[in-house]
Amino acid sequence: MSFTIAIIGRPNVGKSTLFNRLVGQKLALVDDEPGVTRDRREGQARLGDLEFAVIDTAGLDEGAKGSLTARMQEQTETAIGLADALMFVIDARAGLTPNDRAFADFARRANKPVVLVANKSEGKHGEIGAMESYALGLGDPVQISAEHGEGMSDLYDALAALM
Ligand code: GDP
Ligand code: MG
Repeated sequence: MSFTIAIIGRPNVGKSTLFNRLVGQKLALVDDEPGVTRDRREGQARLGDLEFAVIDTAGLDEGAKGSLTARMQEQTETAIGLADALMFVIDARAGLTPNDRAFADFARRANKPVVLVANKSEGKHGEIGAMESYALGLGDPVQISAEHGEGMSDLYDALAALM
């Protein structure tokens, strides 16, 4: 079995966009609507000379009150269980939300290597969110733009270090 990395984080941070970029195909649905329930997706990712399996956690029902639903927790926990390492994604433009902190708890409790990814950082827009993300205790954020393909060599370095 190849090294498996799960992409986790609250809805709308760009997990599926990152998944599609790594897999090189639009296997995952990208949607402006947060919290639309979709299936977990798996694909073979390639980044430079790294090859690994990647899991996109989708189906994260954001409850009306913004609380974590059982389904969100279940899917994230399943993906974490299957993974050798995690990419924990935040929206660096939005800054940290309570939901980010809740998902970060899952990531920390997993006791697996975590790469903190500050997405939507194109054109230096994500500086504030990236700084805030240090508070998650998941290490240094890797600033990327999954949509524009920026920061992928930094992501390569972070992943290569743990594979
Ligand atoms: P997910 O819910 O975490 O899977 O997020 P999606 O991949 O569906 O993306 C949610 C929204 O963020 C979509 O409108 C994407 O086009 C947008 N998005 C994803 N990556 C980036 C990025 O790097 N920069 C910006 N500005 N928007 C992004
Ligand atoms: Mg998605």
